[in-house]
Amino acid sequence: MSTNVEKLLVIQDRDRKISRLVREINELPARRKLIEAQLDAHKEALEQAEEVIRKKNLEQKELDAEVDKRKERIQKLRQQQFEVKNNDDYRALQRQIEEINKEIEEIEERELAVMEATEAASAVRNEKTRALKSEQAVVNEELDTFKQRAANVEKELIDLKTERSELVKDVDPEWLSRYDRVYKHHGDYALVTVEHNTCGGCHMKLPPQMAHDARKLDSMTSCMYCGRLLYFIP
Ligand SMILES: [Zn+2]
Repeated sequence: MSTNVEKLLVIQDRDRKISRLVREINELPARRKLIEAQLDAHKEALEQAEEVIRKKNLEQKELDAEVDKRKERIQKLRQQQFEVKNNDDYRALQRQIEEINKEIEEIEERELAVMEATEAASAVRNEKTRALKSEQAVVNEELDTFKQRAANVEKELIDLKTERSELVKDVDPEWLSRYDRVYKHHGDYALVTVEHNTCGGCHMKLPPQMAHDARKLDSMTSCMYCGRLLYFIP
């Protein structure tokens, strides 16, 4: 036949496990976020590279249009050259054509720079796509483990609560309600040992009478400092 202290020590062990599991369950969403956040840096770099590519492609199109416009003008000027009657007019048109050709060359130089920037951004995009893919695999694995753990934690908690509800049936109700109150208040231990006349919870030196009372088998002495229930293992 176990004493109330022995029964409550078993309950305390379950309560401490329950507390740990509840803490873990509360931390699950933050842990999940932390796992998923590992991809953020890669995703951001990838988006930036894609944004650069989009912008550069647009710039390229605009420059292409500028070149086309000038080529059309040259075409018209050449047409006019066939129709002019004298050499001076012809040369004037030729100078215009040459100026426009110079403009085209300048635009094409800018296009070259745009293409180089696009290529650099493409390289970054490819690298980040690869990095993201391999990181995603790692994260997926971590998430699988995480989900498994989350499911186990829930189940363990249910099992412990069921076991506890059976265990408490066998404890003196007055003992149980005092134990529950103290455990709820402190959140770590309700029952603590007395060692060298010191409370095992708050580590304060107990008055001799209190230490003596705690030594009585299945007594219910509270520490005068922290209120935890004192017990003594002979
Ligand atoms: Zn104490």
